[in-house]
Amino acid sequence: MHQIFTVATQQAKQSLDITARVAEIVKRSGVSRGLCHVMVLHSTAAVILNENDDPDVGVDVLTALDRAVPDHAGWLHDRVDNNAHAHIKAAILGASELMPIEGGRLQLGTWQGIMLMEFDGPRRRKVAVRILTEE
Ligand code: ZN
Repeated sequence: MHQIFTVATQQAKQSLDITARVAEIVKRSGVSRGLCHVMVLHSTAAVILNENDDPDVGVDVLTALDRAVPDHAGWLHDRVDNNAHAHIKAAILGASELMPIEGGRLQLGTWQGIMLMEFDGPRRRKVAVRILTEE
């Protein structure tokens, strides 16, 4: 099963919890055991698994990446469309995550959620979800 959904981000840099959207697709698939692949279809955003209970964790991740990869710090790609920092951060975190489906549900830790990391918003972001069954 394959499905694409869209997320509208509201800020230039943002951490957005997309766990419920993905969990709903998993539920509708009827797959009880397998794998779920979640991938953002853009080069200036990322998908990670991290804490979704305290929203400050997402803010801290964005702050840490800002310190490591400052905006407009002489990056070559800024000559093209001024968003090199966003591409670099997306490359560091990666576009996708793969997680188990067990008992018809995403198998995530208590504090784990699926986070869409926006680095060049606000934009409409496409997220592709592919579900593989083990049965
Ligand atoms: Zn660019």
